[in-house]
Amino acid sequence: MHPGNAKESAPFGLAIHGGAGVIVRAEMTPEAETAYRGALQAALDAGFDILNQGGTATDAVVAAIKRLEDDPLFNAGKGAVLTHEGICELDASIMDGRERRAGAVAGVRYTRNPIELARAVMDQSPHVMLVGEGAERFADSLGFERVPNDYFQTERRRLQLERARQRDEAAARQAQRADPRQSSADEFSIPDLAFDAERKWGTVGAVALDRSGNLAAGTSTGGMTNKRFGRVGDSPIIGAGNYADNRTCAVSATGHGEYFIRANVAHTIALRMALAGEPVHTAAQAAIADVAALGGTGGVIALSKDGAVAMPFNTPGMYRGLRFSDGRSRVDIFGPSP
Ligand code: ASP
Repeated sequence: MHPGNAKESAPFGLAIHGGAGVIVRAEMTPEAETAYRGALQAALDAGFDILNQGGTATDAVVAAIKRLEDDPLFNAGKGAVLTHEGICELDASIMDGRERRAGAVAGVRYTRNPIELARAVMDQSPHVMLVGEGAERFADSLGFERVPNDYFQTERRRLQLERARQRDEAAARQAQRADPRQSSADEFSIPDLAFDAERKWGTVGAVALDRSGNLAAGTSTGGMTNKRFGRVGDSPIIGAGNYADNRTCAVSATGHGEYFIRANVAHTIALRMALAGEPVHTAAQAAIADVAALGGTGGVIALSKDGAVAMPFNTPGMYRGLRFSDGRSRVDIFGPSP
């Protein structure tokens, strides 16, 4: 570049994830791997096309996440995991890095694409977060189509719930035997929702950088199998599971949400970059190390304002991919993280 030239512009593009967990090649059929790779690529292409045509980072994030919500492979929208009562309760959030405007919904049951409702909260309400029936009434007021909760439910998730319930009941009985003062394994016991081999796979997220240098981040999930009492994880919590700030980076997380909330993961990455001047890889690795130190597992995708992407995770695998105007393009499933 010659002195005096305008600053070379950053590449535009996006990165996505489809959840972290005990995802190992030995347990995945070639057909399943092909299906996951195809779904991730389709979501990347949907987002990239929008950016390529001059669309905003926020538009690209919504387009990529919508694809993943509509795909029953992932734990978001159709195919979301089931609560203790056997229904789907969905959480989603979005953030625009320009002015740090944000929108989120939690515990929605009838909105086909929760990421679109989160965006409506950001763009068409003075609020950041709406929950449950209130969020759904807001959707009604905007003319969103309601779908029955059955639309989201799949047989695969029903079997996962059965196994999770049996495991949680056995764990509660064992804990009570070890310490009889503990509350009995009755219907009011709160499962630990351990982020184990069953409760993984599939929260979705996207981070994008558009031609104008704007960042955005979005995350959407059904939460964790066998959750109850209105449990909400990190995905719809701005600063925990999702964050975007044009001055630093855009982040979307996946993992055991309670730990990501406690470690305030997404905002911490942005803050480390802003205050400590860390590159995005260092900041993202440090945030995941902090989650691990608390005992949590999961991963993040983090995109810097310069177009650098970090995707650290401390689980065996994470569905992930990226596509950028400078030719970077890949889809990965298994570890180790790059
Ligand atoms: N983070 C999500 C939650 O805790 C779960 C996931 O990422 O799979 O609700």
